[in-house]
Amino acid sequence: MSQELVIQTENLTKRYGSLAAVNDVSLHVKKGEIYGFLGLNGAGKTTAIRLLLGLAHPSSGSAFLEGQRIRSGRPGPWNRVGYLVEMPYAYPELSVRENLQVVAQLRHLRDPQAISRIIQQLRLDAYQDIKARNLSMGNAQRLGLAKALIHEPDILILDEPTNGLDPAGIVEVRELLKGLARERGVTIFISSHILGEIAKLASRIGIIHEGRLVQEIDATELNTIRQKRLILEFRDAEKGRKTLQALGFEVLPGQAGWVIRQEKAIQHPDDLAVALVERDCPPMRLQVAEEDLESYFLRIISNKNE
Ligand code: ATP
Repeated sequence: MSQELVIQTENLTKRYGSLAAVNDVSLHVKKGEIYGFLGLNGAGKTTAIRLLLGLAHPSSGSAFLEGQRIRSGRPGPWNRVGYLVEMPYAYPELSVRENLQVVAQLRHLRDPQAISRIIQQLRLDAYQDIKARNLSMGNAQRLGLAKALIHEPDILILDEPTNGLDPAGIVEVRELLKGLARERGVTIFISSHILGEIAKLASRIGIIHEGRLVQEIDATELNTIRQKRLILEFRDAEKGRKTLQALGFEVLPGQAGWVIRQEKAIQHPDDLAVALVERDCPPMRLQVAEEDLESYFLRIISNKNE
């Protein structure tokens, strides 16, 4: 077990009857990393997170936090872990501040400023005296995050923490989490079904589909592995297609013009433009386009289905 891995699973599996909700998952999260755990609804994210937190028993395999094997109902490094799983749970009849007071007591926090600090950090000031049951979904989520963060944990495990937040709230939470990783070296494991959102936040990404971990990559690798294509439009489309084929390219129909996927064309579109002009077939438009993030995600998981 490597020391620098703060969160790790080994062949982690959870079955419900014949369904493997989490199937042979081995994931690796290093200290200070923001790890985006990405999957469609029902992919197994929440189940995996529950296993990481000892809230469910694995059918086989193991989960480790800071090298310590997690067993449900047993001691673990829980005072160093903050978490938010599914709908944030709160005492509905207590106010935001009272809910946080309960958490502070349960966690034996001595710092009298801890509650006010976290209320401010999560911008809950205006809502601190409102009963939890009357909070909007976004503010209930903020209260959930406040409870996860109040004891300044070293490891944060968050299941879809931006659910219900408006776009400004999503940006705020993203900046808050980035700051915690950057300034305090907090290791953050965050699930989502939106690759675009994860790509803006995570340094490493794990993709889960139908219970299986299909890919673990650095976020910076995303740009190089997203498929690129060259799109060409001609005044005379048929002449354009024939000329491209005569130049040795495989030409596919696209939404706007012809599409070429060959590396030679994508790397040197200028050479191709010159060759087309020389053959009296100049393109009206020539553009290298990159696969968008959602298409990449769907391609990766559909490859796994084949
Ligand atoms: P979502 O984003 O919709 O919450 P998810 O990726 O978190 O999805 P899970 O909630 O982990 O997915 O569910 C994975 C699969 O396991 C689903 O098919 C779900 O129906 C099933 N499942 C989860 N918990 C149980 C349970 N307690 N009993 C039976 N099946 C379950």
